[in-house]
Amino acid sequence: MRDYVKLTDRDNVAVATHDVKAGTEIMSGLTLLDDIPQAHKFALVDIPKDGEIIRYGVVLGYALDPIKRGAWINEHMLRLPVSPSVDNMPYGVNIRKDLPEAPVKTFMGYRNPDGFYAGTRNILGIQTTVQCVQGVLDVAVERIRRELLPKYPNVDDVVAINHAYGCGVAINAPNAKFPIRALQNIAKHPNFGGQLMVVSLGCEKLTVDRLVGEENNTPDNVVVLQDCKGFEAMMTAILSLAEKKLAVLDKRRREELPLSELLVGMQCGGSDAFSGVSANPSAGYAADMLVQAGATVMFSEVTEVRDGVHFIAERCVSAEVRDKLAEEMRWYDAYLDAGEVDRSANPTPGNKKGGLSNIVEKAMGSIAKSGTSPIVEVLSPAERPTKHGMIYAATPASDIVCGPCQLASGIGLQVFMTGRGTPYGLAAAPVIKVCSRNEMKEQWPDVIDISAGDVVTGEKTIAEVGTELFRFIVDVASGRKKPYTEQYGLHNFLCIFNPAPIT
Ligand code: CA
Repeated sequence: MRDYVKLTDRDNVAVATHDVKAGTEIMSGLTLLDDIPQAHKFALVDIPKDGEIIRYGVVLGYALDPIKRGAWINEHMLRLPVSPSVDNMPYGVNIRKDLPEAPVKTFMGYRNPDGFYAGTRNILGIQTTVQCVQGVLDVAVERIRRELLPKYPNVDDVVAINHAYGCGVAINAPNAKFPIRALQNIAKHPNFGGQLMVVSLGCEKLTVDRLVGEENNTPDNVVVLQDCKGFEAMMTAILSLAEKKLAVLDKRRREELPLSELLVGMQCGGSDAFSGVSANPSAGYAADMLVQAGATVMFSEVTEVRDGVHFIAERCVSAEVRDKLAEEMRWYDAYLDAGEVDRSANPTPGNKKGGLSNIVEKAMGSIAKSGTSPIVEVLSPAERPTKHGMIYAATPASDIVCGPCQLASGIGLQVFMTGRGTPYGLAAAPVIKVCSRNEMKEQWPDVIDISAGDVVTGEKTIAEVGTELFRFIVDVASGRKKPYTEQYGLHNFLCIFNPAPIT
């Protein structure tokens, strides 16, 4: 087992793979001056005041004071570099063609009539126009699960798409397009099999017409609570409509489909300094295999790629894709600016405890989960893709906001990398957990599906863990395996991204 990881020849820091005491000769001729916590950095050379601190071959920041060789480098010791410009970023100069060969090219999925991506689960999704209906709908959903679902064994679950949007909002504000698009597209999620069911209140700003289109606003799809005579009538209306939809969904069957019908989302949360060494590069390797097999993979989280955006631009296949990338970054810069913060607001206390000094270091690890394949499309938050291959969807990095955005884009499942640990999950699509270090897997053996920790210790390669993850993704997509979050039903609230005013 190795004691430290140095990623590129240019790096003047290395990361300790476990807690190491001051006075330890960690490598020949280098004795540590401080105790180094696991995942934290130490200096490989004397770094002068204002000197570059380099990891991943990039400048993470500049030393606020001189740093001695062997000393601990923590988040208080760096000055953040200026954010890279998004003007005239070179594109198409890093287009990889020799992606790793996928061991299988098909999966067992639910083909959808609209020709969009296939489903990985067979779920009755019940859309809501407004938060006000949640209490009633939750009671109804519990009854549907208990009284109706057992009669339709081919349906996996019934899920209420509850959210905080819909009324008390500036519905015609330009930025209202973000939450409205998200809810419109979640209603079309591949796991819902084209079956539309909406529960509305009756006086909300987000009307049924606006949510699902006038043509779908019929009694065959919609229950309006204010039109029901009392609570029992609400229950009867919701349960009887649900039963009609369940009967149709129950006829869906899995079939062998090419992986080109699968859309996989990548996210990370609770990252540490190993995320970019083990979990995210392993996910990137699995992503490369998926793309090689024709699948579509999506990665997101603007503030966590902003400092490495030129690495993404290099992989864009056209000026058009590069320009959309720049446009999304500019929009987000302005959004943060309007809130009087910048990207330095991103790392969390847990990230820092995990050795991530600042957003540059976090970004370099975050981008690794996109692998190395060409980037064929860039999406605004919650847009649906039109291409196959690697896609960048410019969503917030917040786990509970990125999740619904990617659901709206149509992901059949999400792969979620973590260093510190989070039990996050989604009701509408399975979430696979991959951790960056073996201590995390030991702490949560029955929450984390796959540990990439053996990459840190040098006992496994990125290709080995990446291939293991690829196979697990195909098994989960095919319904042969369930990740822990799905087994337990860990379903986080859908926090719909709303940058528009609330009234
Ligand atoms: Ca996240």
